[in-house]
Amino acid sequence: MSTSDVGIDDLPIRDELRGKSPYGAPQLDVPVQLNTNENPYPLPEPLVERIAERVREAARGLNRYPDRDAVELRTALAAYLTRTGRHSVGLENIWAANGSNEVIQQLLQTFGGPGRTAIGFEPSYSMHGLIARGTGTGWISGPRNDDDFTIDVVAASEAIATHRPDVVFITSPNNPTGTAVDAETVLALHEAAQQAKPSLVVVDEAYVEFSHRPSLLPLIEGRPNLVVSRTMSKAFGAAGLRLGYLAAHRAVVDAVQLVRLPYHLSAVTQATALAALEHTDTLLKYVEQLKEERDRLVAELRAAGYEVTESDANFVQFGRFDDSHGMWQKILDRGVLVRDNGVPGWLRVTAGTPEENDAFLDAVRELKKEQSA
Ligand code: PMP
Repeated sequence: MSTSDVGIDDLPIRDELRGKSPYGAPQLDVPVQLNTNENPYPLPEPLVERIAERVREAARGLNRYPDRDAVELRTALAAYLTRTGRHSVGLENIWAANGSNEVIQQLLQTFGGPGRTAIGFEPSYSMHGLIARGTGTGWISGPRNDDDFTIDVVAASEAIATHRPDVVFITSPNNPTGTAVDAETVLALHEAAQQAKPSLVVVDEAYVEFSHRPSLLPLIEGRPNLVVSRTMSKAFGAAGLRLGYLAAHRAVVDAVQLVRLPYHLSAVTQATALAALEHTDTLLKYVEQLKEERDRLVAELRAAGYEVTESDANFVQFGRFDDSHGMWQKILDRGVLVRDNGVPGWLRVTAGTPEENDAFLDAVRELKKEQSA
């Protein structure tokens, strides 16, 4: 019997995965790629050298498993947060994994799972729902205002009281809208979540270094059910490294160890991340440039007649379009790849280098003229 036309659904996979699509931002080979919120600047050469040095050192010990608890790396991450986050944390408050996606997965494996649910306020980061599905956690789509994409505290608290989720995701700045959430809102939702269950509140701060507002990290103090997750993929310009981390009460760090795979963070990853953290100040200089470029994109898009959502991230949501996918294609035809996140009427562009942003702005200005001609 030929098995050449066997597909996923012919396999004995879990029912909830049948007919579903994997996460898949298109990776197209076009001149200007502004679609996955990456940092456009390659790592500076002295850092590349330092990574090579550290990795060479690590290579000598690759016959052994890596430090399972990533002590040196977690200590360096704690020092970074203490220096920049207006709140002092130690090694015991930090956990690291392969991207914040793995951090989120470990949190859902620990606090979600079969018979449990998680809520996010959508549109938001689609992987929260996808990782929930992958871990057998039920997903609840909570409300978000559809004019400015802020979270309405009353409506969101009501959703928490009604559904009594086990995990609450608050993304700030939010992807794909760019919207930041204030501390009062997080505190109110945390309160609602504790009354309803109590449940774990995850503040996803993947983009916080680009924000006009300070990190919500100090909110973990005295709140063992509140976790802040962060990443080196954006501000540190190291998406290829795959290094995410969380800051929380030490009990949360102990809890995720119940599900983490032994030796999940390779010695090469740990060595590379440590090298990057040595160059924190240089890397964060690019953040300042990107914030300026983000603000320029907002201003120029508005001047060109587009609607733009306030952004605290390294990307900008712009619209509105009757046919956002058609618009996405027209921008792509001009050599610029932006993101259609499936939010009706809106597209998202990542802040790139000034030249890349100029190419994008030229394309959308031209399209505006065509529309009004
Ligand atoms: N959270 C948010 C809000 C994101 O947008 C992303 C990446 N797009 C992540 C987490 C995951 O990032 P990483 O796994 O690269 O740390």
